[in-house]
Amino acid sequence: MDVKIFGVIGAGQMGNGIAQVAAASGLNVIMNDINQDFVARGLATISKNLQRNVDKGKLTASEKEAVLGRIKTSVDIKDMAAADYVVEAASENEAIKFKIFESLEEVCPAHAILASNTSSIPIGRIAAHTKRPGKVIGMHFMNPVPVMKLVEVICGLATSAETLEVTLALIKRMDKTPAQSNDFPGFIANRILMPMINEAVFCLYHGVGTKEDIDTVMKLGMNHPMGPLALADLIGLDTCLAIMETLHQGLGDSKYRPCPLLRQYVEAGWLGRKSGRGFYSYE
Ligand code: NAD
Repeated sequence: MDVKIFGVIGAGQMGNGIAQVAAASGLNVIMNDINQDFVARGLATISKNLQRNVDKGKLTASEKEAVLGRIKTSVDIKDMAAADYVVEAASENEAIKFKIFESLEEVCPAHAILASNTSSIPIGRIAAHTKRPGKVIGMHFMNPVPVMKLVEVICGLATSAETLEVTLALIKRMDKTPAQSNDFPGFIANRILMPMINEAVFCLYHGVGTKEDIDTVMKLGMNHPMGPLALADLIGLDTCLAIMETLHQGLGDSKYRPCPLLRQYVEAGWLGRKSGRGFYSYE
């Protein structure tokens, strides 16, 4: 299948990153969110990222304009009627994602493939909200999307070989490297990463160390580029909590229970970088 128009649902940190790399690969992109402010913010982030590459001499000003020119914004999911391939990158919330896939089923052409960038929700559960489970797949980009090479690919029970083939070709076109995971809660990436982050939050909660010392141990002792608490702030504490809840409910093992401190921060609206405050302050 020839993908010409690539839809992205959600213009947040992942959605705008996916729109950027798709447009940079030559695809025409429609980036959708629930209101004009969110799509405008997403587009401004893309423009800022591209400008940084122009300043570093990695991109010309006209290439930047060409990439931006391939991105249309949308606040109506019906615009996805034009898309051949859609990646959903809305908030990590089952109810929101199920509703989006029900709408995409209605508005998208029969040939369109519907992918989800979910961090943890099994693809089969999402596919069950469409009438085309063979055309539903997990396409899990890493944050920040323009920088990180990996895309985790998840086939549900019903995902067809053609859907996988088209998805792998798109990943190659975007100059990324795929790794395939089977359809379990959290897949491979967050089955390993998120319990590590959650344990770092427990270390803070139990007073094992300060946030700075916890992050320094993992950075300098384990050679991680970022400490787990700083990484949690980058990912978004709401997203981290949602992933832990999916692991806990889906695998039924108490070892995946989210740390109460993580829940307390999210309930206070301390979501990390995106809200200006998480384990660290970004004001
Ligand atoms: P975010 O909070 O930055 O952005 C989410 C966006 O989705 C918001 O702009 C919100 O307005 C929008 N949205 C919510 N409901 C919508 C709807 N019905 N229609 C259209 N847009 C809608 O979150 P994010 O970090 O970009 O995460 C998005 C997805 O990517 C989640 O599923 C998350 O688990 C996954 N993910 C996140 C990371 C990360 O590091 N943050 C990494 C990989 C995958």
